[in-house]
Amino acid sequence: MLNIVLFGPPGAGKGTQANLLIKRYSLIHLSTGDLLRGEIAEGTALGLEAKSIMDRGDLVSDDIVIGMIASKLDNNPNANGFIFDGFPRTVAQATALDTLLKEKGTFISTMLSLKVADDELIKRLLERGKESGREDDKNEGIITNRINEYNNKTAPLKEFYSGQNKLSEIEGIGQVEEIALKLNDVIDKL
Ligand code: AMP
Repeated sequence: MLNIVLFGPPGAGKGTQANLLIKRYSLIHLSTGDLLRGEIAEGTALGLEAKSIMDRGDLVSDDIVIGMIASKLDNNPNANGFIFDGFPRTVAQATALDTLLKEKGTFISTMLSLKVADDELIKRLLERGKESGREDDKNEGIITNRINEYNNKTAPLKEFYSGQNKLSEIEGIGQVEEIALKLNDVIDKL
């Protein structure tokens, strides 16, 4: 199995690159942000609980996102592999993911971390907000909070995965296709 953690701050291009990778390597895309927005759109209790937290740009609880990922793994027993996008975001989530994968006899193959400077992230997200309709893309204060959450709680995961010799850092600035080639290169050498 090929299991990839596609990593980076909000606005780094994870979703765009994930869409290319799933086609090239026949993987299943698991984005906890998309799953949570799906819950909100369906008006579930979980969605209701998550919405105000997401609109502020804070992280939702580990239990919620770990539970969503666990059920997706259970529902796709014959997958070629998974791209985890926006998950894990905390050390507790990364540890839980390792355990879940181990139970299925598999593991994370690599972490691909996209590097983009903060001012570029803010610019990209404000631009995306004009069309995405996402509350958390519309306001610079909320975007800054999301970047702070990333720096404080999520960026330390680079150490978690480099400790397992799984971290590759890729410059996330440039043409989409150029960045995709660099990601493919790392995967093809695994
Ligand atoms: P994203 O679409 O990945 O930018 O996520 C949008 C929002 O969903 C984040 O700002 C968080 O509020 C929430 N979220 C998504 N994934 C996670 C996660 N793994 N852990 C905690 N919160 C998450």
